[in-house]
Amino acid sequence: MRRLGSTVRSPIPDGGCSCRYSPPRRKGRTGGDVGGPRHTSRRCPACGHTAKENRPTQETFHCQACGHHAHADTVGALNVLRAGLARRQAAPA
Ligand SMILES: [Zn+2]
Repeated sequence: MRRLGSTVRSPIPDGGCSCRYSPPRRKGRTGGDVGGPRHTSRRCPACGHTAKENRPTQETFHCQACGHHAHADTVGALNVLRAGLARRQAAPA
């Protein structure tokens, strides 16, 4: 009888070799840099104000200029998305 669920679930088995697994790369297929995390969680997606003070805690974003409030990860994701879209519009494939 065949046992289900006995296959390896993780790309890196416990104690196994990771030589076949390569982590996702930051660069896109075209080799371009998709941008690092610089200021992505400090820049307000509503007004563009960028300040260290916009990030009072690790998970909180509170804009000192306009009062926009959100989770820091959401703000970071929005800023990365916008930077990518702007880059894509500037140089369409
Ligand atoms: Zn703001």
